[in-house]
Amino acid sequence: MAVTSVPWFEQPLRQFQQQLLDNKLAHALLLPLGNANGAQLLLNEMTQLLFCYQNNGCGSCKACLLLKAGTHPDLHQIVADGNQIKVDQIRQLSQILAQTSQQGGPKLAIIKQAEKLNEAAANSLLKTLEEPSAASYIILQTEQSGLLPATILSRLQKMTLVAPGQQQIQAYLSQHNIDASLHWQSHIYGGPIALLDVTQDQQNQLQTIRKIWGMALRDKVATKELAQYTAEMPALSLQVLCYLLQSKLLSIAASQPNFADSLVKFIQTIGKEANKLTKMPTVNYHALCQDFISQYHKLKR
Ligand SMILES: [Zn+2]
Repeated sequence: MAVTSVPWFEQPLRQFQQQLLDNKLAHALLLPLGNANGAQLLLNEMTQLLFCYQNNGCGSCKACLLLKAGTHPDLHQIVADGNQIKVDQIRQLSQILAQTSQQGGPKLAIIKQAEKLNEAAANSLLKTLEEPSAASYIILQTEQSGLLPATILSRLQKMTLVAPGQQQIQAYLSQHNIDASLHWQSHIYGGPIALLDVTQDQQNQLQTIRKIWGMALRDKVATKELAQYTAEMPALSLQVLCYLLQSKLLSIAASQPNFADSLVKFIQTIGKEANKLTKMPTVNYHALCQDFISQYHKLKR
């Protein structure tokens, strides 16, 4: 049985394990998941299933021990060199995959953030995908699979993942000693797994920002405190605002379609503004917050 620390990974891991046992595992897989959602954890668990002599991640066979020590010679990981995954990295990888494995078992290459493959690297990879060598597997991990060339995508078997429900996330956080009521913060940090790395101070701060944005929207006034928080951490503060507006959107989508339409556009505008802020030398954050609040109340009318 597949072992996993994340309950909603159980199904994809079981499927992976079954394909492995049935000798039906595709040579090239697409893992459409980011680290904030636990991509690294899932990759570790898949790696262990693949190499383990029992294919169950027993933890005590030689392969499991080598993985634990981080020294398995047939596991190859590619990460971007700077901002790109370059052609030399892929050429080198292809050579290694064409050779026989060092431990006599399978060979596995993991390409992380595969959207960073540059054009030459992608072309080189395509050749390797077209002619897979025996007992070699390639997993491409990316949160933005739409950025991969169609020629590459067509060669990959996409893993089927299940998104966790709110209750599952809450239970998971509780298990990791995080207050379950903080589950909403997983939207801000990109996923529940990312929340495990957030300090308690940061969690509390985010709760405070949510509270003061809530009050500001209700009272139609940007307070000094709100302006200060937003000046200190503009991206986070505006993400909280977007989160609150999205929650509002969900509650009115069916009953007030016109308001919902304009709210969607407004949330996009805030996102664009937030990107611009990083490039601006000085920003009047108080005015910015007040402006967003006023715009929101205009939409409601
Ligand atoms: Zn094992």
